[in-house]
Amino acid sequence: MALNLIFLGPPGAGKGTVAQAVMEKYKLTQVSTGDLIRAEIASGSKLGKELAEIVNKGHLVNDDQIAQMLEADLKTKAAKASFSGFILDGFPRTLPQAPMLESILGKINQKLTAVIYIESSKESVVKRLSSRWTCSVCKKVYNTVSLPSKKLGVCDDDGAKLIQRDDDKPETIAKRYDTFLEKTSPLIEYYNKKGLLHRYDGNVPPAESVSAAEKIIAKIAKN
Ligand code: AMP
Repeated sequence: MALNLIFLGPPGAGKGTVAQAVMEKYKLTQVSTGDLIRAEIASGSKLGKELAEIVNKGHLVNDDQIAQMLEADLKTKAAKASFSGFILDGFPRTLPQAPMLESILGKINQKLTAVIYIESSKESVVKRLSSRWTCSVCKKVYNTVSLPSKKLGVCDDDGAKLIQRDDDKPETIAKRYDTFLEKTSPLIEYYNKKGLLHRYDGNVPPAESVSAAEKIIAKIAKN
């Protein structure tokens, strides 16, 4: 049985960082709708230009549009012989997206194993995101305060340039947090009722957050 996990939490809760740390151990594939959107924007397509306008305001992309992008990506990844599960970061982000995910998973013969909610305050995510840098090539995430690269501005793994996301500006971050409270937080209760929710306090340094998530995942993987 595949281990299919959702990481839920406000932007900057550490979903990507924790995903990077546990992926290798459990041979999981990371699926990030934010990365899919950024790839489309970087391609310079007409759709990419429309998406950039929405994302840079801190708003959410239309449910159907993002579900289609996710379905295509998950289908490709789940079809690989080496597939043993995924960590989904950034989807679902609204209540209507939850049944959309169930329908996508049904089509590819997969089931959701668990949802991990990383609780984080507005104060700690604003602090974290304003010092977040991402590798322009492999997308590895660094933090100039808590998780710096060995050489300033350069990725440890591939030597590529680190860049700051356009939507990581303080006023956009605050807006994205409010969007999370309004649109995404109802999903916590949704998955709690389904008996799938596990939560932990993410207002801690990255290494502690990773180890809290690892403990939860180890328990889930055993069952
Ligand atoms: P992220 O990297 O997950 O913070 O996503 C960056 C931005 O992409 C978000 O602020 C949204 O504008 C958009 N986005 C990502 N995932 C979704 C989703 N599931 N539904 C709607 N918009 C999304």
